[in-house]
Amino acid sequence: MDCIFCAIVAGAAEASFVHQDDDVVAFMDLNPVTPGHLLVIPRSHAVGLADLDEFAGAAVWRVAHRLGRVVRHEGVNLFLADGAAAGQEVFHVHLHVVPRYEGDGFKL
Ligand code: 5GP
Ligand code: ZN
Repeated sequence: MDCIFCAIVAGAAEASFVHQDDDVVAFMDLNPVTPGHLLVIPRSHAVGLADLDEFAGAAVWRVAHRLGRVVRHEGVNLFLADGAAAGQEVFHVHLHVVPRYEGDGFKL
């Protein structure tokens, strides 16, 4: 399978899931920038915003909103990188949920 996140959705690659429903899965980032860093993705492959179904995008947001409330520490960042110029490295669209701690040193 070419796409690592599709492999995770299919159960062909390992991940620590924190949420699964018909449209969306969420799991721990392999290289967290802060403790608790999560990724929320649509089950259906889309590279970025241009090919992401807007209902799938809304479903991703709904889960990220909920998880963001749960993992928020002193703060939380929710962000998405679309395109290499924006820092995207995995080309299956994903929303990062990053708990923030005073002085954690992470810069967006
Ligand atoms: P991007 O830079 O594309 O927005 O972020 C990709 C994210 O995916 C990175 O934070 C990276 O640590 C994470 N990542 C890459 N490969 C894997 C993987 O195989 N499993 C998990 N859980 N996270 C991954
Ligand atoms: Zn994919």
